[in-house]
Amino acid sequence: MSLVDRSRIGGDLSPAAERHLRGSLDRLGVATFEGGRLPAASDLTIDCSGLTVAPLAAASGLPVDESGRLRVDRTLRVPGTSRVWGVGDAAVLDGAPHLRMSCAAAQAMVPHLVAAIRTVDAGRTPPSLDVGFAARCISLGRKDGLVQLVRGDDSPTTAITGSMGAVTKELICRYAWGCMTWLSRLFAAPRGPRAATMLETEAARG
Ligand SMILES: Cc1cc2nc3c(=O)[nH]c(=O)nc-3n(C[C@H](O)[C@H](O)[C@H](O)COP(=O)(O)OP(=O)(O)OC[C@H]3O[C@@H](n4cnc5c(N)ncnc54)[C@H](O)[C@@H]3O)c2cc1C
Repeated sequence: MSLVDRSRIGGDLSPAAERHLRGSLDRLGVATFEGGRLPAASDLTIDCSGLTVAPLAAASGLPVDESGRLRVDRTLRVPGTSRVWGVGDAAVLDGAPHLRMSCAAAQAMVPHLVAAIRTVDAGRTPPSLDVGFAARCISLGRKDGLVQLVRGDDSPTTAITGSMGAVTKELICRYAWGCMTWLSRLFAAPRGPRAATMLETEAARG
């Protein structure tokens, strides 16, 4: 198996984390091709070259960056408009270049957006979004993982690797899944009447 990247694989990790990643790829028998080099041949090619932006913002004529993301200010509003907002992968925040496309950023933007719209509706100035990152996770198999701890601006610090990395990543995934299922239960509407109960009610009514 080969992994192809136009730049350095793991180049945005801390040096220790990059070493661990390269060691794990070696152990797993994965050949790496970096800087635009390509393997001579391939039986199966899988393109996983990253996230793309929906063309909606660019087509709308609103201001976008070179990748087509809607330009918004730190309140998440398009500058110069009163009621055009952008969140998630679709938006790029002026003055916050560290906020890469990610569910971590999108999740923080949405509650902020709701609060900002309510603030504007109440005739007040919306607050600025102040959010950063904590970690990035890479799974390297069931027993090997890499959790790169980062500063708020997404720059790497120390890393948790190996079996501890795998356990930490598993806990993060379970926590995220638990939050989603717990929240969906919390906001779930009450269940409707069962068919048998409805028949009994109809019969009682005559
Ligand atoms: C395989 C994979 C793994 C990932 N893993 C991670 C991870 O581990 N950690 C992490 O932080 N991030 C991860 N991401 C990134 C994360 O999923 C996205 O950053 C996140 O979903 C962005 O949320 P969003 O709501 O902005 O966009 P999306 O979740 O993409 O939602 C946008 C929605 O808009 C809809 N849409 C598009 N155009 C239109 C239109 N014209 N009209 C109406 N609807 C439209 C789309 O159909 C889609 O439903 C991963 C992404 C992928 C693909």
